[in-house]
Amino acid sequence: MGEFHPKFRVLIAGAGIAGLATAIALARISDIPHLDIQLYEQAPELTEIGASIALSPNGMRTLEKLGVHNALTDEVGYRGPSGIPQIFRRTLADYTPSHWKTNQVVSVDTHVNVPDPRHHTTRFHRGHLHAALLEHVPRESIHLGKKLARAVASDDEVVLHFEDGTEAHGDLLIGADGIKSKTRQSFFPGYKLRFSGKVFARSTFDASLIEGKVPGLGANSLHWWGPKDNFFASRLGKGQFTTVGAYEDGRSLEELEKEVAWDQLGNVQLLREKYKDWNPTVKALTELTPYSRLYPNYAGDALPTWVPSPRVTLVGDAAHTHGGAFTAGGSLALDDSFALALALKYVFSVEKPPVITSVSIKRALELYDQTRRPHTTKLLTIVHGQINGKPPVSSSPEEEDSALIARMRNRPDTVWLSEHDVAKTFQQISDLVPTLNARVFRNEGCPYNHITMQNAIFLKPIDGKPGKPGQVYYPIIRKTISQPTVQDSELLIKLTAAALNHRDLFLRQHLYPGLSFDTPLLADGVGTVVELGPGVKDQSWKGKRVILNPGTGWKDDPDGPEDPTGYKIMGGTKFDARGTLQEYVVVDESEVEEAPTHLSDAEAAALPLTGLTAWRALITNTGDRNSSKNAAVLITGIGGGVALMALQYAVERGVSVYVTSSSQEKIDKALELGAKNGVNYKEDDWEKKLLSQLPPGKSAFDAIVDGAGGNIIEKGVKLLKAGGVIAVYGMTVAPKMNFVAQAFLKNITVRGSTMGSRKEFKDMVEFVKSHQIHPVVSRVLRTNLDDITGIDALFDDMKTGKQFGKLVIEFGEGGAESKL
Ligand SMILES: Cc1cc2nc3c(=O)[nH]c(=O)nc-3n(C[C@H](O)[C@H](O)[C@H](O)COP(=O)(O)OP(=O)(O)OC[C@H]3O[C@@H](n4cnc5c(N)ncnc54)[C@H](O)[C@@H]3O)c2cc1C
Repeated sequence: MGEFHPKFRVLIAGAGIAGLATAIALARISDIPHLDIQLYEQAPELTEIGASIALSPNGMRTLEKLGVHNALTDEVGYRGPSGIPQIFRRTLADYTPSHWKTNQVVSVDTHVNVPDPRHHTTRFHRGHLHAALLEHVPRESIHLGKKLARAVASDDEVVLHFEDGTEAHGDLLIGADGIKSKTRQSFFPGYKLRFSGKVFARSTFDASLIEGKVPGLGANSLHWWGPKDNFFASRLGKGQFTTVGAYEDGRSLEELEKEVAWDQLGNVQLLREKYKDWNPTVKALTELTPYSRLYPNYAGDALPTWVPSPRVTLVGDAAHTHGGAFTAGGSLALDDSFALALALKYVFSVEKPPVITSVSIKRALELYDQTRRPHTTKLLTIVHGQINGKPPVSSSPEEEDSALIARMRNRPDTVWLSEHDVAKTFQQISDLVPTLNARVFRNEGCPYNHITMQNAIFLKPIDGKPGKPGQVYYPIIRKTISQPTVQDSELLIKLTAAALNHRDLFLRQHLYPGLSFDTPLLADGVGTVVELGPGVKDQSWKGKRVILNPGTGWKDDPDGPEDPTGYKIMGGTKFDARGTLQEYVVVDESEVEEAPTHLSDAEAAALPLTGLTAWRALITNTGDRNSSKNAAVLITGIGGGVALMALQYAVERGVSVYVTSSSQEKIDKALELGAKNGVNYKEDDWEKKLLSQLPPGKSAFDAIVDGAGGNIIEKGVKLLKAGGVIAVYGMTVAPKMNFVAQAFLKNITVRGSTMGSRKEFKDMVEFVKSHQIHPVVSRVLRTNLDDITGIDALFDDMKTGKQFGKLVIEFGEGGAESKL
């Protein structure tokens, strides 16, 4: 666990309400010495964006505790008059839902225990609240135009990668980047938002526009409910007024995402049209509303943790995607920031001077998580109940009316939300901490902690920068990342072994396209299914040992991948966020095959990529005729994974197989596996020697399976029959080859051959099963992914070409080279 820099570097993604409040709370409450807080905001400038926002008593009290007194004034925010004279009584609220047609008052919200009128529900223009917070944050700590693309965390630091190509490094990352948080997306890549069906059309404007022109409009905030749609109107601070139409939008989430940007200017005429049959107050308000801005309403599930990595947490809408329900978002964000600062203060004040390490910061974040997450999960449960609940079907207008009134009267009581005491909840949780501390320090985990983390191995840039292709050899690094969660038809697989391929070596040398430092390495893996997504069709997957199809985007087309975006192979690239050098991986149920029972974990992990490549090269690309009984096939460079698999398939299919290598030892091993003979390609006229070894009646080879390139076509014309095929699955010698005239005169086909389709993968596994083939494994390292030196040594085997067969990592307690 690394110690921190002299400064404790806090990165906050997003400078909205939550981001600013967190910066203030940390600076004023946490008591952390040498605090260096930097905020990164996508907006190019800080203007008064948004429309109206409400803070309920909990938010107003927190503003006060944060010292943001300028936001508590009557000038900046608006409180309805009804509450003020009755300070010491149970008060009627400022928020009066009215019947949608008759304007009849049906229900009211109340303050239960809010003695100080400054804490009564207050309505602001969001820009004014934002500006009030901004006064407390040093301007130079806010970096504008910094749109976060992704965030990465390791044991030692957190890194923000921005769309402009720059980065920020820190010790703690707080994601305050709103409902569509990229911080959240970086650590919960499968997380999805759902469209609630409603779009909010918001407008704020000078109250003089409506003064004296709207019948029935008092000083209180009014909320009209219709059977489906709602309408809200209120005065705001600084002489502003707001109207909000919340109506059902027929479009799907996909259509909306394409067509409506958050905060986009809407068509006010449409708003007027929607509410033209409502009561005269609403009608007049829509007619006077000068413009509207659109906010499609999204919500998402409660997160399983707010500490996806020991140095990362979330606040505000990034943490709880409740879609603005009960106008709670602003207040929740303020309470989050306060609780986070309390948690940091609590943990770091235990020791003087504070010792800030990864362990202590994780403990603080867990305390914060425990204080806040259950509270917001309760809210999200209500929100999802409302989104999923079907509106009652009414047979007559009268029935519809009474159903509506009943719904309004039975609204959930939200005083637990609007008057929540975050400090008290923190106290209750922290009272339990002494017991927790001992356990955490003994590394037994926290009983309140549902975080599931995992180890994964990544490439590490040198000095934070990519190196020169071919000249660099990237080190590898272990990171602790969150365990993925299953969605839809996905399986959660606990990996038991993973294997290396040449592509992984090329990645370390920056010679492979799409390299990513944020994707775990390796494409070959085997593991056990431990959890099923809700949409998994075959429930029997649970508990099964499976091997993973290493690539996606290619179903069954014999010519190549159908997916226009191409074939995406797992491990170390930006094309697929998964790799197999991690403890858990999520894979769609259609992309796995049950591991053949005759294979050990190491052998099963050795199979996918080379097994598939060899299958396509030998079976699909040399053709059935050239790879069946009585055919003679040359497999060059024996010792590599693909060549060995091709050798085994060919032998099982009754082919006479011949091999080349520069090592007699490898040739001898190939003979043990069933090759008829082999030659050292470093010797002169090796092709003549090979031809002389062919069985009686055969004067030439039917096919060559080659992974080197070089002069294989020149050699091939001498070795092959007329119409013979060279299947080239790699070109390790050089990226170019000469096509010679003799080759076309002899009707030689040269076929490029890659990995294969999902269908070929299935056929290959079936063949391995039915012929009981054991992939050849050169060496197995057993580690729980903390043995970087051991993993490096496996790569060294590949670099020096020492291996005969596959290099495998078996997951488990380290220290032993496991037996095959
Ligand atoms: C433009 C805008 C208008 C809004 N209008 C209203 C409103 O009228 N009424 C209402 O009740 N609520 C509104 N909200 C939402 C409300 O502010 C939040 O629900 C609540 O205050 C919680 O605040 P938050 O800081 O978590 O989220 P937000 O207030 O949404 O703040 C998130 C911040 O992160 C920034 N951000 C987002 N993505 C990135 C990224 N990739 N990189 C860097 N920065 C990023 C955003 O620009 C924003 O400043 C609005 C939010 C925004 C962003």
